[in-house]
Amino acid sequence: MFRELWQRFRPDTVSRRTARDRLQDILDQDRTPLYPELIDALKPELVEVFSRYFEVERGQLAVEVERHNGTATLIVNLPFRRCKATVAGGRERELPSPPQPHIDPSQFCCPNPQCPNAGKKGPHNHIIRSGFYGKGKRIPLLKCQVCGKRFSVRRNTVLFKLKVKEETFYQALAFLVKGKKIATTAQMVGCDPKTIRRWVKRALHHKDEVSHFLQQYLECEPEQLLRFWTQKER
Ligand SMILES: [Zn+2]
Repeated sequence: MFRELWQRFRPDTVSRRTARDRLQDILDQDRTPLYPELIDALKPELVEVFSRYFEVERGQLAVEVERHNGTATLIVNLPFRRCKATVAGGRERELPSPPQPHIDPSQFCCPNPQCPNAGKKGPHNHIIRSGFYGKGKRIPLLKCQVCGKRFSVRRNTVLFKLKVKEETFYQALAFLVKGKKIATTAQMVGCDPKTIRRWVKRALHHKDEVSHFLQQYLECEPEQLLRFWTQKER
């Protein structure tokens, strides 16, 4: 008899908990109704916001709602390829195009050591503009009229033979100057930390040129630059 009663009223903890959880779920759903249409409306806006900061895989956004103890959590799953370059303040900003300086051929000289015109600067140096090269044909070329050698206006500058856009290169340096770590910077501009270290070495050979650009276009302060160069030269 006792045994029978015990069987009947024994607290069946497991099944009781399950029932309580189910009830909670039902209550939760009532409290925060979320309709598929709502999620569908939300998706393009989420993609838009995330796209400002990340290169996202647009078609792969998944949004789910997980409910627990009276709260609903929105779980957004959105694969991305890389962070977009950002500046302090978070929001992506149009990176300044480096100045397309007025190219004055008289300020250049023929780099060919065999040329009788080698090393001559000035208005009679026989150097003329001679088209463009590089990706998108954006980098001006010059030509020595004496020996016919064509050469880049970037020769002897920090950008000579740089394989990425100058915007990316300068943005990475600006992050470093403002105190970001190599690894973080690499992630933010979407390249390898080894590449960032090479860029730092490259920049060290052209400190004035780099400092000038970073101060003028990427809001780097002279003290930050001084600290950066001192630290990197060690
Ligand atoms: Zn020449």
